[in-house]
Amino acid sequence: MKDGDTRDETEVAVFALLRSGLDQLNLSYQESQVEQLTDLVSILSAWAGRINLTGHRTPLEMATGLVLDAAALVASLPEISEAGSLADLGTGAGFPGLPIAILKPHLQVTLVDSRKKRNHFQREVRRRLSLEHVTPMLGRAEEIPVSASDIVVAQAMTQPDLALKLMYPWAQPDGILVLPASEAAIPPVPPAGIEEPELREYRVPESGTHRKLWVARVLEAFSSDF
Ligand code: SAH
Repeated sequence: MKDGDTRDETEVAVFALLRSGLDQLNLSYQESQVEQLTDLVSILSAWAGRINLTGHRTPLEMATGLVLDAAALVASLPEISEAGSLADLGTGAGFPGLPIAILKPHLQVTLVDSRKKRNHFQREVRRRLSLEHVTPMLGRAEEIPVSASDIVVAQAMTQPDLALKLMYPWAQPDGILVLPASEAAIPPVPPAGIEEPELREYRVPESGTHRKLWVARVLEAFSSDF
């Protein structure tokens, strides 16, 4: 989209904040990826004035609360480098799926949300940032045909036990389910066929927000008999 010379002051500040956050996470990246993440924030803030996409109000808040939040998840999930595909259920405006797709372009990323305007936004970002490896799907996770993936994520989609149930059919037989959680969250109860979730804890750079992640491996391939 834009190059460094045509950015306004806010975009320059967002770019610097994102780069500093990625450095603190020790993630390797190219300048072009920080450009894409900055563009994502610009498109989101332009749309957020018209439709309700996120509770984060300013571009700088979006950069930390949504983009660096997703980058911190990536840094806590080394399994991502071995994976070929990821599905993000209840992705909303594309979080954490879109920043993950930008930071890890080797992944095929499926975004699922039941709300039309959010799906429309995801498709707009896909087009404007040329993210051919991203597939937005409109519909309820339990109703549309699954695209089985190595990693399945669902951030704030629904309550954790139900989320794990909805995520299971979207996982490959040796896949993992990843559930970001709030600080007070208690361990979710996995459905039969999924191992006990392992807890990972980390901080989001720049905001210092404390985050928890439940990670559970699939033990038995999903069957509708469960
Ligand atoms: N993951 C995003 C959005 C969370 S809001 C983020 O962290 O910012 C929850 C989203 O889940 C909403 O956009 C809602 O439309 C979607 N959702 C809830 N239940 C769903 C279901 N069963 N299938 C698909 N999407 C669902």
